[in-house]
Amino acid sequence: MLIEQGPIRPPSEAYSLLLRVTRNCPWNKCAFCITYKNEQFSRRTVEEVQRDIDTVAKVAEQIRKISWHIGLGGEVNGQVVNEAARYGHLPYHVAHWLYSGARNVFLQDANSLIMKTSDLVKIIQYLRTTLPSVARVTTYARANTVTRKSTDELRELHEAGLDRIHMGMESGSDTVLQIIQKGITANQLIEAAQKIKDANISLCWYIMPGLGGREHTRKHALETAAVINQGNPDYLRFRTLSVLKNTPLHDMMTSGAFTPLDEDEVVIEQRLLLESLTGITTTVVSDHMRNLLMELEGTLPIERDKLLNTIDRYLGMTPREKANFQLGRRAGVYSVLDDMKNPIKSSYVEKLLKNIHTPEQLKTALTELRSQYE
Ligand code: SF4
Repeated sequence: MLIEQGPIRPPSEAYSLLLRVTRNCPWNKCAFCITYKNEQFSRRTVEEVQRDIDTVAKVAEQIRKISWHIGLGGEVNGQVVNEAARYGHLPYHVAHWLYSGARNVFLQDANSLIMKTSDLVKIIQYLRTTLPSVARVTTYARANTVTRKSTDELRELHEAGLDRIHMGMESGSDTVLQIIQKGITANQLIEAAQKIKDANISLCWYIMPGLGGREHTRKHALETAAVINQGNPDYLRFRTLSVLKNTPLHDMMTSGAFTPLDEDEVVIEQRLLLESLTGITTTVVSDHMRNLLMELEGTLPIERDKLLNTIDRYLGMTPREKANFQLGRRAGVYSVLDDMKNPIKSSYVEKLLKNIHTPEQLKTALTELRSQYE
């Protein structure tokens, strides 16, 4: 038995059941993005998706039988997940989902709200009825697609069971949005946020530190903060830019039209953005591996100082300490700044640093290490 699944999901949906309702990205033009390059966008039919939901229900049943068979009385634990993995990806995926409580579902791919509202409502209702343990349904959506829906349509989706929209904002600067061909505007982002909130759907915005390059770093930080201040999303997630090969942004970098920020410049940009956020009640999350400071997490306004102090702690380090942290972080030795206090980890990174003799060599090493997360 098989179901169709797309290539990506947000980091926070790692334990979610992935259910594909459209294929690929209907826009597919963002200058930094390679995820769906050369892939054709299409909608799946309601019947196709419902068949996948039925398949998941059947696979879940089989997995519970495995659990009974090995004496676990229907409970799905790590042993059952390992057993299910022997039967292929889908049994493994469903077992993993059951193990995590079978509560969350993420609808793929890049812009599910482009579906007819009535079709999406049917899918979500069917999902909630067929898999009654589901407590949260989330999806990606583009801002301009959301603005084309009425608030009543969004309310219908929420009543059917759509809980959260993950949205790639990337920047609140129209200059940057235009350069990277995002195909949306700051005003559309604000309008979309307002409609989503009016429909009682939770909103998570993704922003991309570094996306303005050296040319527009200040503008990117300040204008993004201004849009966030108006949109007041429930969550704000950092996903630091990495310039990928074979993208228009890489061509711009090669031609000199775009100058990427170094690690410190990205952190300075993040500080400017965070210190410019006011009057919002957003939770900041830094759960993407591309971010240097993964501990940059907290709820505004109460944890504003904690966030800024984390940044200042990093920026206050000596050049050698920063080099040690950057290398250790990108090599996967450190997760957070406090990991540098671990003598085994820090001396291991020191040994790596001994092979690096110039700032250029460090830059090359960091770029290569970062590419493993792409
Ligand atoms: S909208 Fe998202 S998936 Fe589509 S091209 Fe842009 S970043 Fe990539």
